[in-house]
Amino acid sequence: KMPYKICIIGSGNWGSAIAKIIGNNVQAHSGVFDQHVTMYVYEEVVNGRKLTEIINTEHENVKYLPGIKLPSNVVAVPDVVEAAKDANILVFVVPHQFVINICKSLHGKIAHDAKAISLIKGIDTTNGIQLISDVIRDELNIEVGVLMGANIAGEVAAENFCETTVGCANVRMGGIYKQLFNTSYFRVNVVTDTIAVELCGALKNIVGVAAGLADGLKLGDNSKAAIIRIGLCEMMKFARLFYNCNDFMVYFESCGVADLITTCAGGRNRKVAEAYVQTRKPFQQLEAELLNGQKLQGTLTAKEVYHVLSEKKLTQEFPLFTAVYQVCFENLDPQLFLTSL
Ligand code: NAD
Ligand code: 13P
Ligand code: CA
Repeated sequence: KMPYKICIIGSGNWGSAIAKIIGNNVQAHSGVFDQHVTMYVYEEVVNGRKLTEIINTEHENVKYLPGIKLPSNVVAVPDVVEAAKDANILVFVVPHQFVINICKSLHGKIAHDAKAISLIKGIDTTNGIQLISDVIRDELNIEVGVLMGANIAGEVAAENFCETTVGCANVRMGGIYKQLFNTSYFRVNVVTDTIAVELCGALKNIVGVAAGLADGLKLGDNSKAAIIRIGLCEMMKFARLFYNCNDFMVYFESCGVADLITTCAGGRNRKVAEAYVQTRKPFQQLEAELLNGQKLQGTLTAKEVYHVLSEKKLTQEFPLFTAVYQVCFENLDPQLFLTSL
């Protein structure tokens, strides 16, 4: 099996930050990993040049992670099938709305022993509720681990200390993932409860939107803390009701409370929701104006979760998730969003 060849599928803000870590770590563990890392880049033209060409000559993703040099063994490839074709480990890190089409293009075209690890925070509800790891597993018929944590990309790329959680049922692969991702400033802890880890990553983005609404209303830190607490309770209840997750220890890992706190303090979902209260421009417009091509996950996740909750007649059990949906999609006055809690 060794050395493992890595393909990073995605090259946005987080994709580029993780590419820096992976490019360095395959060199630090040269017996374990192939030195050549491919990175699928959704091609676009930036300042008159192809983004893949910029990355492969300047070794910098000037649009999604400016100011950070990427290791030169990470090579940008605009065709996902070409990028993934010889890889044994596929690192999925695209905004969650794009994963289905990518998996469909990869169907039947990956190595027979390929495995995947998903860094994607979101869920899918096109046919019942599915985790993103389920979508990848169903489409490609491979083992899927996850990595989620309190990891705002720019801070990780700047090498500021933080932690993260790998969820992996296969203990041997968990050890390989630790070698692939762990650094002195990015501390990986591996747990086996992959479902709870992934649900934390997906659901906290809805709470991040709620925190941003509170900031836009200038409610202060007590309100923010209350939103984080209520949000955590709804995350835990959702995981228990829909996935029978009864082990609470995972919420004390980086993927749990820590990611909630950082997302509610410094995340993009928070930022755009604050701007919504201040401007009342549509979320999609604010996403385009404020994020320069980066994508919001929380508003879409609120819609997907609401869809599932209303089908099961459970919206009253999840007042915060429901209120975020109503503000984003039913024009509920943000002033009123706390009244239902
Ligand atoms: P991003 O928000 O920077 O999204 C932009 C990326 O999407 C670009 O690479 C762009 O080329 C690509 N894209 C746009 N249209 C596309 C299409 N039609 N098909 C395929 N790709 C397309 O992305 P990101 O920050 O790398 O986030 C990826 C995942 O990682 C998300 O689920 C996010 O929640 C999660 N995450 C992000 C951070 C962070 O701080 N940015 C941290 C942890 C986890
Ligand atoms: P945002 O998508 O809200 O920026 O959150 C980033 C994140 O997941 C930090 O861990
Ligand atoms: Ca599906």
